[in-house]
Formats: sequence, C-alpha cells, structure tokens
Amino acid sequence: MMQEPQATATRRVLLPAPRSFCAGVERAIEIVERLLEEHGPPVYVRNQIVHNAHVVADLESRGAVFVGELDEVPDDALVVFSAHGVAPAVEREAAARGLDAVDATCPLVAKVHAEAKRAAEGGDTVILIGHEGHEEVVGTIGVAPDRTLLVESTDEVAALDVPDPARLTYLSQTTLAVTEVETIAEALKRRFPDIKGQGAEDICYATSNRQAAVAAVVDEADLVLVVGSANSSNSNRLVELARNAGVSAHLIEDAAAIDPAWLAGAANVAVTAGASAPPQLVDEVVRSLAALGPIEIVERVHTHETQEFLLPQRLRPSAANRPR
Ligand code: SF4
Repeated sequence: MMQEPQATATRRVLLPAPRSFCAGVERAIEIVERLLEEHGPPVYVRNQIVHNAHVVADLESRGAVFVGELDEVPDDALVVFSAHGVAPAVEREAAARGLDAVDATCPLVAKVHAEAKRAAEGGDTVILIGHEGHEEVVGTIGVAPDRTLLVESTDEVAALDVPDPARLTYLSQTTLAVTEVETIAEALKRRFPDIKGQGAEDICYATSNRQAAVAAVVDEADLVLVVGSANSSNSNRLVELARNAGVSAHLIEDAAAIDPAWLAGAANVAVTAGASAPPQLVDEVVRSLAALGPIEIVERVHTHETQEFLLPQRLRPSAANRPR
C-alpha cells in the first residue's frame, strides 16, 4: 500500500461498532446472489444494487449486469431494483414491459415511500429532506411527484413556497446526518407550526448507529478512515461527522487508497465503514496499518445490531426445503 517512515511506537486502531454492512444491504446482495444461483446469469440490476464499487464488481464477475434504466434491459429478462428503491413509474414500466422484476428496496426506504403515499393521498404536500439526485430521493419523490418538495438546508426551508402551510408532512432520506435532519426539521417546524413529521426518525437504524459509534470515539482519534464508495451517502456523513469534530478524516474505497502522509503523527486511528462497505475491506485496512508497525486493536461497541429483513416471498425457502 504505502511507505511510511518506520513507526516504532504502538499505534492504537480504534474500531467503532457497528460498522460496515447493514441488514438492508445484506438482503439486497443476497437477493442478487440467490437469483444468480437459481436463474443463472444474466441478472439485470437497475442502478448499483448498493453504493459500493467492490460489491458491484464482485456481482458483475458472477453474472449481474448493472444498468441505469429499464430500456437497457431486454424484454422478458429478470431485473432487480436496488436497495435505494424506485419510483412507482419504474415499477409500472417494468410491468408494462413484461419484465420479471424483483424488488430489493430496503424495507426502511419502502417505509418512507409508504409515509409519502399516505401523506399525499391525505391531501398534504410532502417536504422531503434529502440530497438532490440521490437515487433514494429520486424514488421517494416519484411516489407523489406533484405533491413533493425537496429541501437540503435551512436556507431552502426559508425559501419554500408551499400551497397550504396547514397541509404539510415532512420526511427524510434514510442516510443523512441525524443532527442535520434535526436542524432542518426544527426550521420547518418554526416556519410551519402545523407541519407533521417525526424529527430524524426516517434516518435508518444503521445510519444513526454508525454515526453514534464514530461520535463515541472521535475525541480519542487523530485520524478517522471511513471505508466506503464516493457515492455512499451514509459513508460521507461519517467523514463529515469526524471533520465537524475537528479530526482529520478520509473516505477510502479500500486499503490501497490510504495516503501515508495522513498517518504521520497519527497515534490513534479510528477505522469504520459505511453500511454498504464489506467488512473484509476494514480487515484489509487494519492489516495495512499493522504492516507499518505495531498496532493495538481496540473494539468500541456502541450498539449490537440484531435487525434482519426477510427476503422477498419468492426467494424464501419453501416449507419443504426449510431446515428442521
Ligand atoms: S443504510 Fe439503512 S436504509 Fe440503507 S439499506 Fe441499510 S438499513 Fe436500509
């Protein structure tokens, strides 16, 4: 990986937990893997199944074909919708084309879709707190495109023009910074006292747990390394969290991306990973640090995660095949 001046003092490697894969990512990957086994390649996947280059490359090597839009999928093919969810118009297009679609949308994204649908059908305008262009945001806006407004900041809240201030519901993208959503939600409530919404509750457990775990160690760290791809929202939020605390932090695709200059004088290095980054990439980062000199590994468990999500019905083992 790198050449660093020979370190002699023991470096502490802090490993905040939870880190790496969440239940929604594991489910989405398992859906593609099972379809590859049962159906054989190609299995088309609309957009990256999860935002991680290593995961995508691995599935590609096994026969998954990633496409940006359904018009790249041949008629009658099998297509998977990614963990970030799709707009209902995409589901309708797949059905009209006769495609065999399997939905790997994380159930926690689907929950936000259901909230948006309920609010819009009840006559509310939905104010979605999220990042423009992110696939999850595109899908959620697509639930009620004529009744949804997107805000990214308190400035945008101040500039909002709503049809009826008494008929509003706010929701958020699942992978934002908890503090950022709370701040924007407060600004919405100040400006529109009748708005309905639940603070930062749409942020998923995996995002908030990874942020809390990093927050718990950041004061001890000289450097924070976050394993994740550049388009991974929750990974970027972990980097921001550390930098906002005044600690040097970098998003790295894998161990090869570590710049040795970052490690100069860094006696305490925290290593974490976003929810879409495989755990073995963290192991490789730790091995790379160990190759530079003695390290002491310190696990810091903030929360034990037990969340699991069922596979779609068609991929669950039938009663006859279930282990007894
Ligand atoms: S990060 Fe959260 S919303 Fe996204 S797949 Fe994982 S659990 Fe689901």
